Amino acid sequence: YSQLIDLTDSKDELGQLARSFNSLSSSLNEVEQNRKEFLANVAHELRTPLSYMKGYAEGVEEGIISKEKGLGIIQKEANRLDRLVHDLLDLAQLEGDSYQMIHEPIAFAELIDDVVDQFSLAADKKNVRMERFLDDECIIMGNADRLGQVIRNLLDNALSYTPSGKCIYITLSKNEKDVSLEIKDEGIGIPNEDLAAVKQRFYRVKKARERKDGGTGLGLSIVSQIIQKHEGTFLLESTEGQGTSAKVTLKSMNENVFNS
Ligand code: ADP
Repeated sequence: YSQLIDLTDSKDELGQLARSFNSLSSSLNEVEQNRKEFLANVAHELRTPLSYMKGYAEGVEEGIISKEKGLGIIQKEANRLDRLVHDLLDLAQLEGDSYQMIHEPIAFAELIDDVVDQFSLAADKKNVRMERFLDDECIIMGNADRLGQVIRNLLDNALSYTPSGKCIYITLSKNEKDVSLEIKDEGIGIPNEDLAAVKQRFYRVKKARERKDGGTGLGLSIVSQIIQKHEGTFLLESTEGQGTSAKVTLKSMNENVFNS
C-alpha cells in the first residue's frame, strides 16, 4: 500500500499536490483491494465444487457412499465448475478494454420470441406461465448473440426464482428514442438490502445460495456488462415476496439508417 503524504493541511501548492497525490493513491489502493477480493472470490467459488468432488470420490472409494449417488454429485459439481469457468472467461472478455462486438440492426421482438421459445418447455414443466407483449416494430442496433444472452440470463433468473402457478410477463415497447424490454416475474423477489448488490460478481441472496442447483452469481454482472457495451441502461426493481422487474433500455434505431 502506498504511503499518504501528510501535508494536506497546508494551503499552498505543495498542499494541493499532496491532496491530489493522496486521492490518486487511495483510488489505486481501492483498485488493488478490489482485485484481491475478486481473486479470493474466484478461488473460493472454484474450490467449493472441487471439495465436493474430492469428498464424494473418497466416500465412494471407501464404500461410505453408493457409486450411483457419488457419481451423480460429482457430475453435477463438474457441470457447475464448467459453468463457472465459462462465465468467468466470458466476463473477462467483456470487461477487456479491447473487446469489440459487431453491431447490426436487430428486429428485437423476433430475437426475444426465439429466446422465450427456448424456455417454454422448462416453464411448462414448472407450471409457470410466460406472457408476451411484444411491439414488433422495435429495431435496435446491437449484437444479437450478446443480447440473446441478456434475455436468456434474465429469463433464467425469472424462471428460477418464480414458484409454480405464477406468471412471467415479457414486454417490449418503444417511444421516439428508446426501446424497452421488461421481464417481470411474480417470484420470491429480492430483499431491499440486497438489491443494489446483486449485479456485483458472485453476489447471491442468501435464499439463492442455499438452493442446491444454484447458479454462478455471475449472470447479472454479465448482463450489466453487455448492456453497458450497448450504451443502454439496466434497471432492477423488486419487492420481496412479490416479484422482480428487470428493465433493459436501448437506443431505438432510426428507421432511415435501417433502410439505407
Ligand atoms: P445466479 O447465477 O445466482 O442467478 P445472478 O447474477 O443472475 O446469479 O443473480 C444474482 C442473485 O440475484 C441471485 O442469486 C438471486 O439471489 C438474485 N436474483 C436475480 N434475479 C432474481 C429474480 N428474478 N428474482 C429473485 N431473485 C433474483
